[in-house]
This record gives sequence, structure tokens and C-alpha cells, in this order.
Amino acid sequence: MRRSSFRIHRQTKKVDPNKSVEEIVRDLQQTSPRKSDYRDRSLRMHGFICARCGREFDHKTSHLLTVHHKDGNHLNNPPDGSNWENLCVYCHDEEHSL
Ligand SMILES: [Zn+2]
Ligand SMILES: [Zn+2]
Repeated sequence: MRRSSFRIHRQTKKVDPNKSVEEIVRDLQQTSPRKSDYRDRSLRMHGFICARCGREFDHKTSHLLTVHHKDGNHLNNPPDGSNWENLCVYCHDEEHSL
């Protein structure tokens, strides 16, 4: 036997009027750090050139240029760029294989 006494509660759910969807999205974006932001900044700051071998790069070949963290701590990204060194992939490999 089935009970057919389901009551339907009409509940109009109201969205928090203090927060719009845009605001919530903005909150989420602000809490998630932009990962490779320092790479762009380092390239702009130090130029498209390897600090070791002096090889020069341009926007087409910039993927061969990487940012090395002098103290090895990828979370240490001071705004003045003092922990960054632009190294080409070859020199970067060498740097870490030593
Ligand atoms: Zn190099
Ligand atoms: Zn490195």
C-alpha cells in the first residue's frame, strides 16, 4: 500500500539579496591564486634573455624561456623579482642537475 499523502510545500527560495552571482564569482576568483603569474612578470622585468647563456628570445620562442627561483622556493615571489632568474630550458636543466 502506498501512502498518497505527500504534502507539497511551496517554498519560494529567495537568493540572498545582499550577494549577486557576480559577487560570488568574484569572491571565488580572488581566493584562487593565479598560478603562473610570476612568469609573465619575470619575463617582462628581466627581458626575454637567458641569464646564463645570454640566448635571446622573442614572443614566438618565449616558451623556451623559464623562470628559475633562486632560492628554489616557487612560493617565494617577491614583487621586485629578486628571486627570479630567466633561464632557457637548457640552462634551467643544468641548474637543477648540479
Ligand atoms: Zn641559457
Ligand atoms: Zn629552477
